[in-house]
Amino acid sequence: MKTPTIPIPITQIPLQKNIQLFLKREDLIHAQISGNKYWKLFYNINSYLDQNSQNPFIITFGGAFSNHIAAVAALGKEYQLKTLGIIRGEELQDKWQENPTLKLAYQNGMDFLFVTREEYRDKDAITQILQKEVPDALFIPEGGTNEHAVEGIQFMLNSETKRFDYLCTAVGTGGTIAGISKFAEENQKVLGFKVVDDHSLYNKVFELSTKNNFELIEAHDGKYGKITDENIRFINDFKKNFGIQLDPIYTGKMMKKIFEMIEEDYFPKGSKILAFHTGGLQGIFGANELLKKQNRELIRF
Ligand SMILES: *Cc1c(COP(=O)(O)O)cnc(C)c1O
Repeated sequence: MKTPTIPIPITQIPLQKNIQLFLKREDLIHAQISGNKYWKLFYNINSYLDQNSQNPFIITFGGAFSNHIAAVAALGKEYQLKTLGIIRGEELQDKWQENPTLKLAYQNGMDFLFVTREEYRDKDAITQILQKEVPDALFIPEGGTNEHAVEGIQFMLNSETKRFDYLCTAVGTGGTIAGISKFAEENQKVLGFKVVDDHSLYNKVFELSTKNNFELIEAHDGKYGKITDENIRFINDFKKNFGIQLDPIYTGKMMKKIFEMIEEDYFPKGSKILAFHTGGLQGIFGANELLKKQNRELIRF
């Protein structure tokens, strides 16, 4: 994988308060790949390709709307890698074409193995079986989080991000915030907005980051993937007011929570906040399909 040469803009979100809020547009890295997923895969794929340039084969795990699955499939196409997605939910077996994420992943050349939720929980067992069949394949965990991923996240930080007091990101499996925490400046505070109700996350992030400069804040509305009406309204208003598209699973929840915290004077006067727009926009198509079936307001895109 190459280092993208496009400059990543940092855009100010104008506020009435004496607080400066900016968004770093990692979503602009690639049309089909969430910005943080790009960097999480960077060292994973490059170190694998250094050893296995013949018939590279990447196997990974994810749910039906996974940004990580979308990212691996898109990279597979771009770099001519064979890819296999182990997908949670055997019921998708004969209707995956109706799912926009999986349809696009398939068009990008990904093969699928659909497993039951119970089988999916035991990823080690699946890995062991497949490793016997394809010993040279690279197995990347769900969401792409591992030590290579944490190292790759350093590219989201640069000389321009040093001047901020707070660095904010949405948190799913924890790799992104671990990287931001690990590579942040001494004086910077890192805030992670949890979109999953997972109490093991703090320890996991601390192990990967080895620093305690971060805090985790609940932003999950009850469970992973839940999309409330307030959430949709916030995303649509945000787009109307600031011209920036957010996604319903990660960045929309983070920004809504940051706005609430600013309103509640969580941040001291004069604070400079940088939130990473990690992307995830491919998830809007799948979300809108569900919302349409439920006769609800759609995310404007
Ligand atoms: C995966 C993802 C995250 C969370 O990253 P983790 O490293 O899993 O915590 C945040 N935002 C978007 C858009 C994502 O796709």
